Amino acid sequence: MTLDQARRIHADLPVIDGHNDLPWAIRIHHEGLDDADTTGPLPMRHTDTDRLIAGGVGGQFWSVYVPAWTEEPFATTVEQIELVEAMCAHDPKWELVRDSAGLRRVREQGHVAGLLGSEGGHSIEDSIDKLRQLSELGVRYMTLTHADTITWADSATDEPQHGGLTDFGREVVREMNRIGMLVDISHVSADTMRHAIATSQAPVIASHSNAFALAGHPRNVPDDVLEAVGASGGVVMVNFYPAFVDSEAAAQSVEMFAEGRRLIAELGDPAAADAALAESRAALPRGSVATVVDHIEHIARVAGPHAVGIGSDFDGIDILIPGLEDVSCYPNLTLELLKRGWEEPAIRAVLGDNTLRVLETAEQVSDEY
Ligand SMILES: [Zn+2]
Repeated sequence: MTLDQARRIHADLPVIDGHNDLPWAIRIHHEGLDDADTTGPLPMRHTDTDRLIAGGVGGQFWSVYVPAWTEEPFATTVEQIELVEAMCAHDPKWELVRDSAGLRRVREQGHVAGLLGSEGGHSIEDSIDKLRQLSELGVRYMTLTHADTITWADSATDEPQHGGLTDFGREVVREMNRIGMLVDISHVSADTMRHAIATSQAPVIASHSNAFALAGHPRNVPDDVLEAVGASGGVVMVNFYPAFVDSEAAAQSVEMFAEGRRLIAELGDPAAADAALAESRAALPRGSVATVVDHIEHIARVAGPHAVGIGSDFDGIDILIPGLEDVSCYPNLTLELLKRGWEEPAIRAVLGDNTLRVLETAEQVSDEY
């Protein structure tokens, strides 16, 4: 097995990645799109056009994340949507699409189809109308929470207040089914995951999460939920952040997260608290391409091979796994899968076909309303 064989599988851009934070990185690290010109090399970021094409990426969910502490989360999310629209208009090889048909069309042209994913139910400010507005602006998934518990859903990394989803939370999920927006269970508590799956009529996604059994971080998905996602026809998209991949890094990161909460309370500034922990984060064990593939194989065993996808979290993570340093690196995963005896159709399912199927199913569920 050689990397060239793996790269051949990537030639028709089979990868559909569930989560990339380039829009937020551009907002905080760059002075507009000329400074973050993806049509040329952008070495300070994990993402640019040539590396996406080299990695075989034909579909990318761009996260329109805004922090939960943002004063006007809905308006700021709309600004991030406008930034992604501008990003895609600026780069002749990128096109923003709204559905599976658009994704297929753009990918067949050898270009990168972008889709919008919003990260955190705080963005809708407790309003079904704002949820509908996000959908009208093209948002195709919403992660129910980010790192903080919100008024209608518990987060994995905050104190639970509701035992999962509230009645309004269930209403949000049903409305997402109706308007064809995927329900994303990354970042939420295990009980919120269970409630979301039980409520949703469409299969759910975890846009950037791994297996809790292999790395015991609350951001990861426990086995009973993996089984339920698989049974409902959904997909769990593996994340490349070392703290969600490597078991020792997960254990250390859980302690660091608690320290981060304490620092936020002490300093009153999430960014300063985050910066104070940068050195400890940099010292975390990283895991390897093989460890990521262990997660893929575990999810395939427990949830089924139809229920695994890829959600790198590139440009949202500040430490990286050797061999998975940027968006050109996906063929390294394929090489490891080939070495372990995976056949090409099963590999293609993980790289993107499973995610495309879930998107199509959510569109059918919406059409039937
Ligand atoms: Zn995230």
